[in-house]
This record gives sequence, C-alpha cells and structure tokens, in this order.
Amino acid sequence: MPIDPTLPYDRENVFAKILRGEIPCNKVYEDEWALAFHDIAPQAPVHILVVPKGEWVSWDDFSARAEPEEIAGFIRAVGHVAREQGLVDPGYRLLANVGRHGGQEVPHLHVHLFGGAPLGRMIA
Ligand code: C5P
Repeated sequence: MPIDPTLPYDRENVFAKILRGEIPCNKVYEDEWALAFHDIAPQAPVHILVVPKGEWVSWDDFSARAEPEEIAGFIRAVGHVAREQGLVDPGYRLLANVGRHGGQEVPHLHVHLFGGAPLGRMIA
C-alpha cells in the first residue's frame, strides 16, 4: 500500500530497522550520510536503494527541512555508488517515489538506482 508522506516518521519502518542493523541487507556502500543496498525485488539487472541515515519520510520533507550538509552528503553518496558500480557509462536511472501517486511503499526516503541494461522510457 502506498504511504502517506505527510504522516510523521515511523521509527519501526523496514529501512529504519535495516539502518539500525536489526534486519540484514545486501550492502554495497555506507558512509556518514547514507546506506546503499541491493533491492530485494530487483526491477533491473542492477537495482540498488540508497537510503539517507536521517529520519526522512520522503523526498518532500528531506528537500524542505534537511540541512544543506546532509542533502549534499546524500546526493554525493548516490553519485558515488553509481560510479563505484561502473554505471556512469553506459548510464543509469534514479527514481524517488513520493506518496500515493508516486507509489511509495516504504516510509523512509530512498532513491532507486537502476542500471545494467537499456531501461526504456519508464520504470513503474
Ligand atoms: O519506492 P518504494 O517505496 O515503492 O520502494 C520500496 C522498495 O524497497 C521496493 O523496490 C522493495 O523491493 C524494496 N525493499 C527492499 N527490502 C526490504 C523491503 C523493501 O529492498 N526489506
């Protein structure tokens, strides 16, 4: 079920548990600002989720209220993961679902990083 991004942050969401180490993940990268791991249900040959360490429900509250240092750190982490995975050439796609129309299901901000094959115009 898509989540309501206007609800307060839920510390029991699955990505909060992964960040706390209570649930395992297939980690590809971690730094001060972000954790990146393989999606459990990949929709492309490479499908990685990059998750900020801060308590942000979606791109909406993150972009409105996170400190510039945290925004920069997270965006740099996303780019770093793409480079580290060798995706810059031939390319990749970033996606952040927000709210009902976006189809966001996990109420902790995450950016999907897709690659490893031509992706067409849309990934649902
Ligand atoms: O953007 P949205 O919230 O719909 O995406 C959530 C993503 O988190 C899904 O692609 C799902 O496969 C992934 N997921 C995961 N590990 C979990 C729970 C969900 O990789 N334990």
